[in-house]
Amino acid sequence: MKLTFLGSGTSHGVPMIACDCPVCTSSDARDKRLRASVWLHDEDRSIIIDVGPDFRQQVLRAKVPSVDAVLLTHTHADHLNGIDDLRVYSKLSERYIPFYASEMDCDFIRKHFEYIFNDKDFSLKWGIPRLELIAVKETFQLLGLDITPIPLVHGKGKCTGYRIGNFAYLTDCSAIPGSSIDLLCGVKTVVIDGLRWTPHPTHFTIDEALAAISPLNPERTFITHICHNVSHQADSAKLPKDVFLAYDGLEIEI
Ligand SMILES: [Zn+2]
Ligand SMILES: [Zn+2]
Ligand SMILES: [Zn+2]
Repeated sequence: MKLTFLGSGTSHGVPMIACDCPVCTSSDARDKRLRASVWLHDEDRSIIIDVGPDFRQQVLRAKVPSVDAVLLTHTHADHLNGIDDLRVYSKLSERYIPFYASEMDCDFIRKHFEYIFNDKDFSLKWGIPRLELIAVKETFQLLGLDITPIPLVHGKGKCTGYRIGNFAYLTDCSAIPGSSIDLLCGVKTVVIDGLRWTPHPTHFTIDEALAAISPLNPERTFITHICHNVSHQADSAKLPKDVFLAYDGLEIEI
């Protein structure tokens, strides 16, 4: 399958509002970062991980023709607040889109986006997103793929990474429990949160991210959820070989 980075930026996005730092004013397209999200796709399958506030712009830019399923990492606004724009895809397919998240996150979504789940008589037809919320904890099957939710520590909160075959997507984390490292054994390609070089209470620094996954010894690592303190060109040069800064529009085979 192909993986397209729809967004590689932290919650603020880059450029950040009202900032004129060198990265926010950079002319390098790789320094323009929408909120973190990826699209996994091949001829027959189209899966989105996270639907943040830039979702509409991201799917227009990447020309995403359909969405078969959504995986959610957690309910922070930068990962969830584009949920309403899924309605186009449920209307196009005239199907409920399976939407996978942790049980806690499913509860949050039912509460905070009540209108999506309360139209039991279908009076709003396809005018709202039609989603089938599915709480996941263990490995599940989706479109012929084995997908394993990976519990992650995100400051005082929790986040869910996903392992799909020998690929793992681990955004928004500040620690990876040992039991989750066990679930990741054998992965070859890892996408992981690496906000910046200096410590942050809820996100790995780039060095911390690499240290956390060093027991896995992946073939390729892509850093995502990057803030405006990181310049694509200047900071890429500081990375070990086989470690790359993700950027919006980057497409890799997984
Ligand atoms: Zn985030
Ligand atoms: Zn800035
Ligand atoms: Zn978060």
